[in-house]
Amino acid sequence: MKNKIKDYTLEELKEEMNQIGEKAFRTIQIWEWLYKENVSTFDEMTNLSLELRKKLEEKYEIGTYKIIKKQESKDGTKKFLFDILDGNAIETVLMEYKYGKSICVSSQVGCKMGCRFCASTGIEFIRNLSAGEIVEQILAVERIEKIKTNNIVFMGIGEPLDNYDNVLKAIKIINNNKGLNIGARHISISTSGIVPRIKQLADEKWQCTLSISLHATTDEKRSKMMPINNAYPIDELLDACRYYIQQTGRRISFEYALAKDNNDNLEDAKRLVKLLKGMLAHVNLIPINKIQDGTYIQSTNENILKFRDYLNKNGITATVRRELGSDIDAACGQLRRKNLL
Ligand code: SF4
Repeated sequence: MKNKIKDYTLEELKEEMNQIGEKAFRTIQIWEWLYKENVSTFDEMTNLSLELRKKLEEKYEIGTYKIIKKQESKDGTKKFLFDILDGNAIETVLMEYKYGKSICVSSQVGCKMGCRFCASTGIEFIRNLSAGEIVEQILAVERIEKIKTNNIVFMGIGEPLDNYDNVLKAIKIINNNKGLNIGARHISISTSGIVPRIKQLADEKWQCTLSISLHATTDEKRSKMMPINNAYPIDELLDACRYYIQQTGRRISFEYALAKDNNDNLEDAKRLVKLLKGMLAHVNLIPINKIQDGTYIQSTNENILKFRDYLNKNGITATVRRELGSDIDAACGQLRRKNLL
């Protein structure tokens, strides 16, 4: 079986090339073809000798994704379902913000976390994506749309910190200044709250934005919404967040999806202020997705705004996040689930 060439960091690829007797500058050329020129075949690497191209072809695969389906929202959000070449499919979303384009990548095929409000719930976990399979999502969208991206969010299907080593390697590849060159501050990792991995990430001292899916202010409510809370309750999670801030100096984003009569009343807002008081934090309020089986109903606009105003008046910065792509099922898992059913 051929190795996936995009699974290597630049250092690792140098080592690979060294083993087949190629000089370091050749590695840079290959790297630039892959990540700057975004080519799909070794044949397109025209400044390499025919002999080297043949060697590469024999030993490695570039792993270019095929597109199965693309949906486009009225607000410009585009959602792609990719065939990842082993019979599995994953989804990637391109979002347009005022400050630029952002690509939301998946980190696993399926997810083990079972969050009740998520469309991926009920889809079995199949496997982790490799580093190259994560990076190829960005390259595939850039190729198809003929764009350059300046922001990456790990907020698609999967729990990124449950695939820690591959996600970290993908970040190194995305960040490398000879290729995609996307700054760590423009890479955001969204987690349901795997405490030991948050601490491990803090110790790496990367400048990535950490985004925590909090969604509730008591362990009772949060455990009902997110089973992971049984393993890592709110206090432990927030301690790990404080550690992340201390190690990196970065502000943490807390995601809070508001569901009517569940977590959107004034008592919840008061508890949230108490929990986050004094922390370098920002709260993203999200109207909960409409896909659920009816367990959760979206809060009214009035309640969402009241909740936001209470937080802001009490020293916690909070904004309401636009529901990008809501007309095309842009919540994680939905496109893939429709395709499976
Ligand atoms: S919200 Fe994220 S972590 Fe939770 S089940 Fe969905 S994909 Fe997994």
